[in-house]
Amino acid sequence: MARASLTIDLDAITANWRALAAIAGPRVEAAAVLKADAYGLGTARVGPALRAAGVRSFFVALAEEGAALRAAIGPGPSIRVLSGLMPGDAALCREAALTPCLNSPEQLGEFESDLAGAPCSVQIDSGMQRLGFAPADLSACAERLRALRPDLVMSHLACADLPHPRNTLQLERFAAGSALLPGIPRSLAATPGILLGPGWHFDLVRPGVGLFGGLPFAAARPVVRLALPVIQTRAVEPGEAVGYGAAWIAERPSVVATVSGGYADGLLRAIGGGIGGGIGGRIEATGIFLYAGDVACPMIGRVSMDLITVDVTELASVPPRLEILNARQGVDDLASAAGTIGYEILTALGDRYERVYNGAALPLDPA
Ligand SMILES: *Cc1c(COP(=O)(O)O)cnc(C)c1O
Repeated sequence: MARASLTIDLDAITANWRALAAIAGPRVEAAAVLKADAYGLGTARVGPALRAAGVRSFFVALAEEGAALRAAIGPGPSIRVLSGLMPGDAALCREAALTPCLNSPEQLGEFESDLAGAPCSVQIDSGMQRLGFAPADLSACAERLRALRPDLVMSHLACADLPHPRNTLQLERFAAGSALLPGIPRSLAATPGILLGPGWHFDLVRPGVGLFGGLPFAAARPVVRLALPVIQTRAVEPGEAVGYGAAWIAERPSVVATVSGGYADGLLRAIGGGIGGGIGGRIEATGIFLYAGDVACPMIGRVSMDLITVDVTELASVPPRLEILNARQGVDDLASAAGTIGYEILTALGDRYERVYNGAALPLDPA
């Protein structure tokens, strides 16, 4: 079988949630953000594992994602929809007991007419200019919002992964904006904001990427392993070129393994130096390895749609599979090779992988 297998450690995910919750401390609720199918790792398995570990609040981007999560975790925990109440979402919100995060006067109007009496949260814009009530709209709508008794007022930080003056600016604006909705629990921090310190935690924190082993939560337990089957191994003479664009040329008698997996599986072409390297562009080293147990074998040449080539000359014997993601080389290593972030590598992980879940989800506690 040429299908690669992606192993997802559910126990590591719940351990990372507990570790982030411990940083936030006992007075702060730790939610879990499972948008984009739990950052590509599978809401249907990740949701119940986190639910069993004690998560009481989840966030997703879309109402449809919320309905899928509700089907997986059952009734009880709150599921908030970050895109808020979009036209046509009211029925789904009602059926799946989803809580829209109202973002604008338009969404407020929609909520009042289509979903009155249901729970809602309010998102305010503290300076990212992306989602949430702008300050003037918030002032204008504050009385109507208070009347709905929202269960949370939240905002999102643009620069929390850096020591940046915008963080304090957003903190001040969030304090001012949320003061218009007094007595309502407040939330500002995602994973990077949790690491900024207690001043950022308010009543509820919203970790996403940190649950899945991604930076900036450097202390996270690794969550994913990705093993790519070796399809073929060949001897390559010095001077022969490997892969598209003849981008890697053997300098010694080499053994090259071709493994199953490529940019169609989220192993971005840019990982192999694909950016800017046109036909004939030479790739010396990608800095990325495929692991045979503990032995690191350099990835060579361009990443193809379904294939990657590996210099296995140093191996005494080539195993049936080589790992491209494991405890030694994580999503952030692939990300830095490709000039992107771990979030993008995670959410790009492909549909063609066989997904294997380690760590049994505990049975749901009575809701
Ligand atoms: C994605 C997202 C989060 C989670 O962010 P991480 O950096 O992955 O922890 C939290 N809040 C909002 C509004 C988001 O969009």
